[in-house]
Amino acid sequence: MRQYQDAKRQHPDALLFFRMGDFYEVFYEDAVVAARALELTLTSRSKDAAGTGIPMCGVPFHAADGYVTRLIRQGFSVAICDQVEDPKTAKGLVKREVTRVVTPGTLTDAAYLDARAPALLAAILPPARGGTTWGVAWAELSTGEFAATEFDGPDAAALLREELGVLAPRELLLPSEADIEPLRTDGTPLPAITRRDGWQFGLDAAQRALTEQLQTSGLTGFGLDGHPCAIGAAGALVQYLRDTQKADLTHVRSVAYRETRDGLIIDATTLRHLEVLASTEGDRQVSLLGVLDETVTAMGARLLRAWLTKPLVALDAIRDRLDAVEDLAFRAVERGQIRETLRQVYDVQRLVARAALGTAGPRDLVALARSLDAVPGLRDGLAGLQAPLLAQLSAALDDLPALRGRIAATLADEPPMLARDGDVIRDGADPEIDRLRSLSRSGKSDISAMEEAERQRTGIASLKIRFNRVFGYYIEVSKSNLHAVPADYIRKQTIAGGERFITPGLKAFEEQVLHADEHLITLELALFESLRKEVAAHATALQATATALATLDVLAAFADVAARRNYSKPHLHEGDDLSVVEGRHPVVETMTREAFVPNDLSLDGTTQQLLVITGPNMGGKSTYLRQTALLCLMAQAGSFVPARQAKLPVVDRIYARVGAADNIARGQSTFMVEMQETASILNTATSRSLVVLDEIGRGTSTFDGLSIAWAVAEHLATNPKARPKTLFATHYHELTDLADALPGVANAHLLVREWQDQIVFLRKVVPGRSDRSYGIQVARLAGLPGSVIRRAREILSGLEQDELARGGRPTIAGAATREGPQQQLGLFQAPPDDRLRDRLREIDVNALTPLQALTLLAELKDEAEA
Ligand code: ADP
Ligand code: MG
Repeated sequence: MRQYQDAKRQHPDALLFFRMGDFYEVFYEDAVVAARALELTLTSRSKDAAGTGIPMCGVPFHAADGYVTRLIRQGFSVAICDQVEDPKTAKGLVKREVTRVVTPGTLTDAAYLDARAPALLAAILPPARGGTTWGVAWAELSTGEFAATEFDGPDAAALLREELGVLAPRELLLPSEADIEPLRTDGTPLPAITRRDGWQFGLDAAQRALTEQLQTSGLTGFGLDGHPCAIGAAGALVQYLRDTQKADLTHVRSVAYRETRDGLIIDATTLRHLEVLASTEGDRQVSLLGVLDETVTAMGARLLRAWLTKPLVALDAIRDRLDAVEDLAFRAVERGQIRETLRQVYDVQRLVARAALGTAGPRDLVALARSLDAVPGLRDGLAGLQAPLLAQLSAALDDLPALRGRIAATLADEPPMLARDGDVIRDGADPEIDRLRSLSRSGKSDISAMEEAERQRTGIASLKIRFNRVFGYYIEVSKSNLHAVPADYIRKQTIAGGERFITPGLKAFEEQVLHADEHLITLELALFESLRKEVAAHATALQATATALATLDVLAAFADVAARRNYSKPHLHEGDDLSVVEGRHPVVETMTREAFVPNDLSLDGTTQQLLVITGPNMGGKSTYLRQTALLCLMAQAGSFVPARQAKLPVVDRIYARVGAADNIARGQSTFMVEMQETASILNTATSRSLVVLDEIGRGTSTFDGLSIAWAVAEHLATNPKARPKTLFATHYHELTDLADALPGVANAHLLVREWQDQIVFLRKVVPGRSDRSYGIQVARLAGLPGSVIRRAREILSGLEQDELARGGRPTIAGAATREGPQQQLGLFQAPPDDRLRDRLREIDVNALTPLQALTLLAELKDEAEA
């Protein structure tokens, strides 16, 4: 218990799993918590000083991973306290130590991780007293990716919240005294929070931890100079990794300083509204990622996701990707060959990480070697292609022939999952292992030869040589044959059916066989361990290859989608023009049963800066808005776009907002959310931003909503500091008047055709305002009863006449001063003859017999007179 208390004292915040024999035991408070979380039976152990039993529960050690994972999923951390001496050779109490602490942000168990999504740990250093700079660092232990940044200025906290929304870390490290309130976003719950001593975030301690881990003398090479807050967060993060993993972490040898302006900024709200990673319903397949994810490796899938959440803004880098995609798109044969070869590549990033963390098993190393085997073929495939980025990737692909050869020559082709199960090292790899193996094998066959010989000698046909852990090998003779036992048999034990004996010869044999087995396992483990360490020592080179493999995978996937879905190469430029010819929505076009109708768009910074888009509900406004934003996003991620032609400016931010987004599940007033989201645009957008606003102002009463929508549009079109390119879809027709008043505002609408009082959506965007909103026709299409539709028409024409009498189309002013025409028309009384009309309409005259017709006529007459 003293050992237990010591270990617990070092890790007070984690549940302590304490190894005893074949079990991990959990005691005291931890036991109560773990028993409830894991549905285990709580027992109690010997009484403590106060005379009460100590609560306790336990799990078998070989099944511990599953239990640990379940606890982590529930937000706990688990400290694993192992026996660090061989119990057989230890004198007195076996020494125990915490060998690893598993936390939500550091769990690397493959069974727990989503292979195609990241699992991040983040550290945050809030501004010092009087300061405004936030330091942030994040790392993925399962791959070794590690980055840091800073946020400064009045919007720092908001930017940080957005970044966290996109990164979605599993665990947050914070100084013990830090306030978490500024990190809370409306609705989204914070991940697991772990408090660390404030000094670990201090510049000195952090710098020391970083230089030690990265094995460098300074941090200049990583761009961290002059960023003390980022260093503080990164240092504290590294210290935490070292404290919890207690391993070398050779796969964490560099950190990248990220400038916010290095990438296109897309906040979490925009990602959600544009359905970039998943549909609004949470379906991953029905999203931009779902359409574009033709990657064939898990590494590629993760990288694609990263590219879509953080597209580029550097024109050169964007063009490099597009050129590479173009090359691959037009060279179908090479592309096919490359993708086929990539399919043989395993998750090198995570395999390397497991090697560095000491958790890699024999199969992991074999998978790594097989992945490297694929590299020469990839270089061949790339040889015929010209794009500079592809040439760079080819050069970066290192198959590490020496290491690859070592693994292949050392490990068996199909080794077991766990090294301790034996038969890991291939025959011929090590002479001593070969010798012991044949000894062990021949020993076992010799035992059966010996059994046969003893049967011959004693004449006891049922004599058996057996093995158990207590006696080792022994000879078993049944009761009825005991009289035939020779004198040199030494009796060891009497059992129900007979007796057990040993002989000196048998024991000599046993010595040899058991010794060989034991020695064999030790040797195999040692050899495997040194191979694992050798792999870990090559972590940096392996990671570089892994990154190149992932990049190639994404580029080839982009090319594949482009070729199959008829995308074209966008032309990106530093200017203002945004013009799209026959653009399509990448996701909707794969979903609609009717053919997708492509649409053009032209925006610029002057005469067409803000486009007000009107048209009936279901006309295609939202689709048009989103496809424009998605085109820009895709292009800057390096993908071709679904359009015949696209000339796109490099944008710095994309905002997408949807009026009255349904956030009820998050316990939020929807209108409040809508306004908060809108506020963030007006405060942060620049003239290089792209803004799409979909029915803003819908979440409140008509006049409020219209007034707000009007003012927001006006602001976006006239604010001299920032006039972002804006698409503004609205059901408020009044907004189309803006185009008459403001030079940068233009109207567009979705074309519909009326046919016999029905409405047909043409889904075509044309210049100018739409004449009406067709709301009633849409309501009819949706199946509202005929009487309601007719009544709505009456009310509408009443309203319109009322307006005409005042001389003009309905305006805000007119609407606001209108004296409820509802009262004159009696809004809540349905005229009775409408029911009759409905009944008449339902009658199928052809299906009536003359007699039925007469009866019906009588009924209807009664009803009319009632
Ligand atoms: P609105 O925002 O005007 O109400 P949406 O953009 O939501 O309309 O479009 C309604 C539906 O019409 C979409 O779900 C889609 O199926 C279909 N749609 C929209 N645009 C097109 C198009 N260009 N071609 C074909 N179908 C379209
Ligand atoms: Mg819409």
